[in-house]
Amino acid sequence: MLDVLGNLERTHTCGELRETHVGQQVVLMGWVAKKRDFGVLTFIDLRDREGVTQVVLSEEDKGEAHAKAKGLRGEFVIAVKGEVVEREGTHNAKLATGGIEVHASEILILNDAKVPPFQLEVAGSENLADESTRLKYRYLDLRRPQLQHNIRMRAKAVAAIREYFDKRDFIEIETPILLKSTPEGARDFIVPSRIHSGKFFALPQSPQILKQLTMISGFDKYYQIARCFRDEDLRADRQPEFTQLDMEMSFPNRETIYREIQGMFNHVLRLIGVELPAEWPRLTHAEAMRRYGSDKPDLRFEMELQDLSDNLRGTDFAPFAETLKSGGEIKCIVAKGKADYSRKQTDELQEYVKRYGAGALAWIKVGDETTSSLLKVLGEKKIAQLVSTSAAEAGDIVLIVAGRKSVVAAALGALRNEIARRENLIDRSKYACLIVTEFPMFEHDEESDTYVAAHHPFTSPMDEDLELFKTAVNDPSQHHLLGQVRAKAYDAVINGYECAGGSIRIHQKDIQALNFKALGLSSEMARERFGFFLDALEYGTPPHGGFAAGIERTCMILCGTENIRDVMAFPKTASAQDLMMDSPGDVDTSQLNELSIKIAN
Ligand code: ASP
Repeated sequence: MLDVLGNLERTHTCGELRETHVGQQVVLMGWVAKKRDFGVLTFIDLRDREGVTQVVLSEEDKGEAHAKAKGLRGEFVIAVKGEVVEREGTHNAKLATGGIEVHASEILILNDAKVPPFQLEVAGSENLADESTRLKYRYLDLRRPQLQHNIRMRAKAVAAIREYFDKRDFIEIETPILLKSTPEGARDFIVPSRIHSGKFFALPQSPQILKQLTMISGFDKYYQIARCFRDEDLRADRQPEFTQLDMEMSFPNRETIYREIQGMFNHVLRLIGVELPAEWPRLTHAEAMRRYGSDKPDLRFEMELQDLSDNLRGTDFAPFAETLKSGGEIKCIVAKGKADYSRKQTDELQEYVKRYGAGALAWIKVGDETTSSLLKVLGEKKIAQLVSTSAAEAGDIVLIVAGRKSVVAAALGALRNEIARRENLIDRSKYACLIVTEFPMFEHDEESDTYVAAHHPFTSPMDEDLELFKTAVNDPSQHHLLGQVRAKAYDAVINGYECAGGSIRIHQKDIQALNFKALGLSSEMARERFGFFLDALEYGTPPHGGFAAGIERTCMILCGTENIRDVMAFPKTASAQDLMMDSPGDVDTSQLNELSIKIAN
């Protein structure tokens, strides 16, 4: 039989009571986290979102309550009335309430609970139940203190972001979820319209065009905590829907926006007591790629890429000679003190770089007797030269990749992270931030031999590259020059994660039209898809720009987790399913009929 709550009210939470409350009569309510039954004495760990309090029932003083406690099981919901008593000699230092316990005089069983399908209280994340079971019963998994902490941290982060932008006179504007598509490179989720049979809305990949329109509307400074939807191929750290802080402002230059990026993240990271520099380091995209092989380098450790190409020009070792002849490069990283890597380890690393398109991984182990996988083909003298260029010292291993520039960067950039991970080179107490600037405006798609927007089609070219841009678009024989045009686009990187990205936008209609042309959109197509926007650009559009920051990424940093699902209340799996609601799911034929939709197979 369950009890009724009636007029009973909580006096305290389960995380609140201390020695100063000793002697007080209190009422606590929560879940039975644990029960230990010692016959005459029963101990209950009572849990709510604020913490855990030990409740004691003894047969001698409180016969009825004690008898009732016998029937309690894990996750029952109870109310406890009792007196706060100092714990005798057994303070539990692990609990904030560990100095006291509540001697219960009355217990109300407010609800029972089935035995949970997995254990909620486990020591260490490695002992957690399998993730799909936990996602199916997400509401139970969310009771774990770690997830309670993460979700509350997320709420604090969003509150801090709002506080930051409100204070700086940005206006929060909600933009619609039912949109026409605003392509940002990914596939849209589409929503059929019943009223306009055969027509579709698209869910926003981001509010990009709308936020630009708020600038044309004269709001000057906009922000929004915006839900975005991208139907992308799946990756472990991606979710089909996610949240961004989205901002835009009028009349900025790039520095104006960097100031807001820095200011916002610095404000948010103070939530975990981290003070980032007022002005973050900057690297151009080209320099980041050259030195770290990545546009989001983790700067908590060094291990920069070194270029060995000049040393190897003129070599008759065919793989290197051919690489250099075809415009490729030969680069290395130095793993400090790792000359003792075994054959098995270097083989593993070789397999690792192959995943990034590298043909092979060559190595030099530096020491009294320097050895190398290249010794036979290059000879001792050349090897010594390479060691000197790479600045490796005795005890180090030099790891070398040759190939196309993009392959060498991808392979060594990834290898740099992999070695840091294997060798524990990352100081987890450090937070390394960076703004990467001057991203390329276009990426070349080799398969179709076309250029696609590296950021999105509304990003402005650098002033210095405007002429190059115009020539490349207008003169078909110069089309390949698009690959050299740099954009006023930037990313914010913290600890190797891309946390935010944005750009100064094109605000002149002619340049916007030119950019659509560069992207292979005929003027009819551009008109059909973006006519409303091209029109708007003609009515006095101020120069404007902005950025968007991933709320999940930011919270992963705040919570120290690498699993995106740890910072979302109800996430989807890596294969875009909701295991709790079992979605996506079927719909009735009548619903489909209303929408004039037939499932083909
Ligand atoms: N809309 C862009 C994105 O979602 C951000 C921006 O350019 O402001 O990545």
